[in-house]
Amino acid sequence: MIRTNDSRKHILVTGGAGFLGSHLIDRLLSQGHEVLCVDNLFTGAKQNIAHLTGNSRFTFRHHDVTLPLQIDVDEIYNLACPASPIHYQHDPVQTTKTSVFGAINMLDLAKRLNCKVLQASTSEVYGDPVVHPQTEDYWGNVNPIGPRSCYDEGKRCAESLFFDHHRHFGLEIKVARIFNTYGPRMHHADGRVVSNFIVQALQDAPITIYGDGTQTRSFCYVDDMVDALICLMATGPDVTGPVNLGNPQEISVRSLAEKIIALTGSRSTLAFYPLPVDDPKQRQPDITLAKTLIDWRPTTLIDAGLRRTVAYFKDQQGVQVR
Ligand code: NAD
Ligand code: UDP
Repeated sequence: MIRTNDSRKHILVTGGAGFLGSHLIDRLLSQGHEVLCVDNLFTGAKQNIAHLTGNSRFTFRHHDVTLPLQIDVDEIYNLACPASPIHYQHDPVQTTKTSVFGAINMLDLAKRLNCKVLQASTSEVYGDPVVHPQTEDYWGNVNPIGPRSCYDEGKRCAESLFFDHHRHFGLEIKVARIFNTYGPRMHHADGRVVSNFIVQALQDAPITIYGDGTQTRSFCYVDDMVDALICLMATGPDVTGPVNLGNPQEISVRSLAEKIIALTGSRSTLAFYPLPVDDPKQRQPDITLAKTLIDWRPTTLIDAGLRRTVAYFKDQQGVQVR
């Protein structure tokens, strides 16, 4: 699936003990690369990378990306940042620091090493979008002073830093705008909608719908996202992004809940709660650019991806798959 002719590289993945980072590392190792995972374990977990213990091509370093890093690598994937609203709002100043100082430190490192650096940006740069589906040339509708701003504006500032380093220092950058991604190793208690609904459904507990559930998201299975990130990194210097990466299959939050209830055979009912402040009403990536630049499109249908994710959470709970 992944088209790479590159020989073995030394690759840094920041945030590698998290959900997305740990899957990315698995794939990079399976391609024969050497991987250094840097993480402060704020939202990540050693458990996500425990299976790599003993792999001579894998190294873990406990480190906070807000501090400079002196290492030698060929490529950098910068994923370090809490991604779920409850985690990134827990210490919002630290969230902004992670995005901004983290970007500065990784860009400084890339500049010193003259290596490629990829930024895990986000669909949150579009805020509560008035253009639908979102294309990369849309500048977004972001509240600069709300509870989501630490994340949204932090990521926007990181994009700005990446492009300034590209323009001023000729640095080879790749900016990926990642839309909602789900799969095994999501944190069971980080409050994201897919993990919340699956955990609730498996416990026959009420499914917590915020608002009336008509707001939409477009969910990409993690394996597809990892394909995209690796393809983007493999592009030549002309390809900087920003590139939308996500699955354009849009679904309302209420439909997602009903789908998960059906897939799990749960007795859960729907329970409605107030919508969080500035919760985007709609979200769907236009992935025309990704198709053109990296010949990528997601291939995992939501039912298949959800089944694998349900199986993971059942396993975590020590329950047999129904
Ligand atoms: P995650 O919370 O599972 O992983 C983030 C990792 O970064 C964790 O291991 C955490 O411990 C680490 N981290 C946080 N602050 C750090 C710091 N200061 N120094 C070092 N490590 C730090 O989240 P994820 O879903 O895997 O997201 C990974 C990246 O992808 C994030 O940058 C996120 O913004 C981006 N992203 C994810 C999604 C998604 O739906 N999963 C969507 C858009 C963007
Ligand atoms: N959501 C919900 N119930 C939950 C968790 C989330 O209805 O238990 C909603 C949330 O309000 C948002 C959508 O699901 O409209 C996606 O939330 P998530 O935090 O997963 O991602 P984001 O808002 O960052 O896209």
